[in-house]
Amino acid sequence: MGRILDGKAVAQEVKEEVTAAVSLLDYQPGLATVLVGDDPASHTYVRGKRRDAEQVGIRSVHHELDASMSQQDLVRLVAELNKDESVDGILVQLPLPNDLDGEATVEAIDPVKDVDGLHPFNLGKLMLGRPGLRPCTPTGVVRILDHYEIATAGARAVIVGRSFLVGRPLAMILSERGVDSTVSVAHSRTEDLVSVTREADILIAAAGSPGLIGRDHVKPGATVIDVGVNRTDEGLVGDVDFDAVVDVAGAVTPVPGGVGPMTRAMLLVNTLRAAESRRAVS
Ligand code: NAP
Repeated sequence: MGRILDGKAVAQEVKEEVTAAVSLLDYQPGLATVLVGDDPASHTYVRGKRRDAEQVGIRSVHHELDASMSQQDLVRLVAELNKDESVDGILVQLPLPNDLDGEATVEAIDPVKDVDGLHPFNLGKLMLGRPGLRPCTPTGVVRILDHYEIATAGARAVIVGRSFLVGRPLAMILSERGVDSTVSVAHSRTEDLVSVTREADILIAAAGSPGLIGRDHVKPGATVIDVGVNRTDEGLVGDVDFDAVVDVAGAVTPVPGGVGPMTRAMLLVNTLRAAESRRAVS
């Protein structure tokens, strides 16, 4: 039976580190959250992020807006938050309701306050291997691997999913110098997914397809990280058929309690970093 990688426990460790670092500052970092519309999942996510911030000593300021608001007004709010000296991080909860443009909104955020790490400037820095604000889910995945001392150097990593939110930035991080995995990225056009994923020493599922990864997809002893969060009639499930995979994998993350809490914890790390780097120069 594979080891269960406890994302909740690792996230708690990260939160304790952030709490300790925040307590040494002579100011209180500020996180602005922007939530548009009434999507229940988005409301739950933002509530959780604000609670986390409060727990570690980060002040959170919340802006809740009607789905009928205009793109212009949304960008105007972001511009105000960019100027607000008490705000170190700006998080616009995605996806935005239909008529609003998520990409343009993220691009309106000052890159030094882009705590989701999704602004093209920050994704560009990631591509160049330079330090900066990086997307929270990929850094959360790497932190779990680090915590459990799962060797990445020379390991064959396969990521299922090529989104700009998870798959592609994670491929960049896992293949950069110092992490040193050999990375393949699979997607919906990949042929014979099983033969690709069975090559993996580290298999990361980020497809948004419940139970996509079964026993046959996993090389015995591999580490399996399940990023997927899918709402089904049976509740929240990942992309990995946990019960089928746990016997063959060397280690596996559960859903819930795996990557999700890590994503939230890394947002706090990014907010702290944004505050430190912004206030160091001001
Ligand atoms: P996305 O933008 O929809 O991307 C999904 C990717 O998976 C695409 O590249 C797609 O291929 C690929 N894919 C879909 N079905 C596939 C299949 N049957 N075989 C192979 N590849 C397949 O989704 P996302 O934003 O990256 O999110 C992925 C999942 O992670 C979702 O369940 C999401 O809820 C979850 N998520 C969780 C966290 C967390 O904190 N735990 C954070 C972010 C996202 P194509 O490019 O060819 O379409």
